[in-house]
Amino acid sequence: MHPIIQNMKDIRHISQEELVSFLLSIGEKKFRASQIAEWLWKKGAASFEEMSNLSQSLRSRLQESFTFTHAEISDHRQSTDGTRKYIFRLHDGKQVEGVLIPTETRVTACISSQVGCALRCSFCATGTMGFIRNLDFTEIFDQFILLDKEAQTNYNQHITNIVYMGMGEPLLNYDAVMRSIALITSPNGQGLSPSRITLSTVGIAPGIRKLADDGFKPEVALSLHCADELKRRQRMPVTETQNFEKLREALVYLHEKTGKRITIEYLMLKNWNDSVEDARKLFRFCQPFPVKINLIEYNSTESGYEKSPEENVRKFVEFLESKNMVVNIRHSRGKDIDAACGQLVKKGQN
Ligand code: SAH
Repeated sequence: MHPIIQNMKDIRHISQEELVSFLLSIGEKKFRASQIAEWLWKKGAASFEEMSNLSQSLRSRLQESFTFTHAEISDHRQSTDGTRKYIFRLHDGKQVEGVLIPTETRVTACISSQVGCALRCSFCATGTMGFIRNLDFTEIFDQFILLDKEAQTNYNQHITNIVYMGMGEPLLNYDAVMRSIALITSPNGQGLSPSRITLSTVGIAPGIRKLADDGFKPEVALSLHCADELKRRQRMPVTETQNFEKLREALVYLHEKTGKRITIEYLMLKNWNDSVEDARKLFRFCQPFPVKINLIEYNSTESGYEKSPEENVRKFVEFLESKNMVVNIRHSRGKDIDAACGQLVKKGQN
């Protein structure tokens, strides 16, 4: 939650009931609450001033009674491939990054769920920041609103897809992420279809089970990257607490409860996880549930790893396809502006 400035609550942190009783207490009509909610969640307003169907005196009254914090774009960069990276400044000066990735038919927004990240996967730049704080649901929602405006300005199109693949681990900020998804998908909010949203996780077993229990509608991607548990531990320390047994049980549970096919993300790193033997282990790992595999090209960071040579990728794919697995090769976008997967980092925020 935001700190309460001068004891005032943030307009986006009060319930509809609280808003109604506030309005009644100042002699306003109840239906004003729905008008305000529409400004907040449907029109994505960032100030009371914009709420043009409210009287000036009500707007001033709201202004005096509530805070209204919102994220702002503080900087952006454009890649030669059309990808645009944005820096968002939050109410306390912290910063996170988001990316817009256009293709012929889509505009995908990649958004952050935390400032920094606690996981410290050794190939990922965000991990070098450490964990700073969780984002509030409004801060996740604001990234969508701001990026959608940018998508219209720059590509003449609304956002069609969202991936929770920016900074942070969404399942370690579960409630705020779910609330942001509810607002983005609600007909009273942004109305985006849940099937156009992907939540990507390093594999937090209790979080995956919770998704299953909550009947989670969007897609789920697992950043597996290595199907050999001991080897994965070396570069993804989270494996120590989220071991393969727990992880696989959670994935089976998710599939049983929701019927979902899980997307497996697999970063191809030279001489580490890219042999045919590694492909065989991946095939075995995925036996208990249906999957689609995305092989991701490694984007350079300061970690010093190298991406797999094409020959290794080809043999890896051949093996998986011989086992009838669905495999896509994902070439990265926005590398020249450090906007690609694993390259998001904003230093000096501690
Ligand atoms: N914490 C979540 C959300 C981040 S998604 C998760 O782990 O899924 C960011 C994706 O980019 C993850 O799959 C991550 O493993 C991957 N990634 C990290 N560093 C990368 C790099 N240098 N090159 C390509 N992908 C990378």
